[in-house]
Amino acid sequence: MPTASEISKSVHEGKSTAVDAVNSALRAIADRNDELGAFVSVCEDHAIAQAKRIDALPADKKKRLPLAGVPIALKDNICTDFAPTTCSSKILASFNPPYSAHVTERLIDAGAVVVGKTNLDEFAMGSSTENSATCITRNPWDRERVPGGSSGGSAVSVAADMTPIALGSDTGGSIRQPASLTGVVGLKPTYGRVSRYGLVAFGSSLDQIGPFAKTAEDAALLLGVIAGADTRDSTCVSTDVADYVGALNESIVGKKIGIPREYFAEGLGDETRKHVEAAIEVLRGLGAETVDVELPLTKYGIACYYLIATAEASSNLARYDGVHYGHRSEKAGDIVEMYSASREEGFGAEVKRRIMLGTYALSSGYYDAYYLRAMKVRTLLRRDLENAFKKVDVICSPVTPSTAFKIGEKTSDPLAMYLADVYTITANLAGIPAMSVPCGFDSAGLPIGLQLMGPAFSEAMLLNVAHQYQLNTEHHKRVPA
Ligand code: GLN
Repeated sequence: MPTASEISKSVHEGKSTAVDAVNSALRAIADRNDELGAFVSVCEDHAIAQAKRIDALPADKKKRLPLAGVPIALKDNICTDFAPTTCSSKILASFNPPYSAHVTERLIDAGAVVVGKTNLDEFAMGSSTENSATCITRNPWDRERVPGGSSGGSAVSVAADMTPIALGSDTGGSIRQPASLTGVVGLKPTYGRVSRYGLVAFGSSLDQIGPFAKTAEDAALLLGVIAGADTRDSTCVSTDVADYVGALNESIVGKKIGIPREYFAEGLGDETRKHVEAAIEVLRGLGAETVDVELPLTKYGIACYYLIATAEASSNLARYDGVHYGHRSEKAGDIVEMYSASREEGFGAEVKRRIMLGTYALSSGYYDAYYLRAMKVRTLLRRDLENAFKKVDVICSPVTPSTAFKIGEKTSDPLAMYLADVYTITANLAGIPAMSVPCGFDSAGLPIGLQLMGPAFSEAMLLNVAHQYQLNTEHHKRVPA
């Protein structure tokens, strides 16, 4: 499948049409989705109508659309007023939002065509897309393995060439980890860079929407469209959006790359280590310098994240009571019974676990010991990174300790699943941008990702480094059988 940049260029030049591009995405979805389970809904009529509208525009108007005719998939926790938004939860199974998310509006204004909504771990809680109430999503590199999560459907849509680009959301790694496990590029922007208006909230102080693509170039193009001010999200900043595409070809000679010892310690798989180290060598070959950095508080990240994320989730999910939002139980006698039966029927096991953990951490008597303590650790973790970025431009590390695991391997052990988030959650706690770039395959042919983290609002630099890496490597060109 051509990249998003190629498709829009060809539509601009009148060499192909938006309808062609959308039809080929719809065909690919029809061919592959039964097997892979990436999409929970496909909005064919909307997509064709949208594509025809673009094709009918005069040439000069078309040329002003950066994503003219480019098919895109959206994670099903991003609101669309033309398609259901279920969060892969029974509680929102029949939710048709009356409005679209900010990013959805931006995409449509830019000429992109939403072809469908993708599967996720229910309410984005998980690392394997197995917690979906709709279906499981399979990894196209080995269909017996998970694609990662929670944005597994969006990652697979790109990895299996159903759409050239997709959006996901990342609260603790949900874009980068599935990108790494499926061999695509995934970027979590700086907190506040992209509006969360219309993104169903999980951990509001951690959530960010970001791009999936095969190349850093496409990720740059897509980020440029969705980033920027929005008054409907008070945490969204109005700082100028950089020229992400324009910065791709800058030289990386002299860039200082920090290597955090704590990210290469016990628990990291040998093959992952080998390929990540080789990728860092490639960057050195391009003129970057490596410097050892210390992030001594890394070991507290998981505990801190799972207190803050669950506390925020327990509060955010209080609205699904069968009255304000969501499924209403038929069984109800009185109102309290109605709330509890609706929630009991509507939420899956992982969501209930998180609501209970979060409610406990926030309850009177435990608040100081858990939530408040976690908030203090969060500040220290952020300082750890700020100190590191006084010495280096970018920090390189693995994204995940190992390659894709087997379906069912970790479902009975939530703690094992949580522990695999060790390298990704710090960026969310600190609010900094981070991305995953394909950097090789293990001996079983499973993809491995390299993580790049930078200071707040350094997306242009991360994309530049990733692009230079991709110009000199071929990993992103390999396609699953
Ligand atoms: N795996 C992490 C969790 O389950 C991250 C999820 C996410 O980023 N949405 O909380």
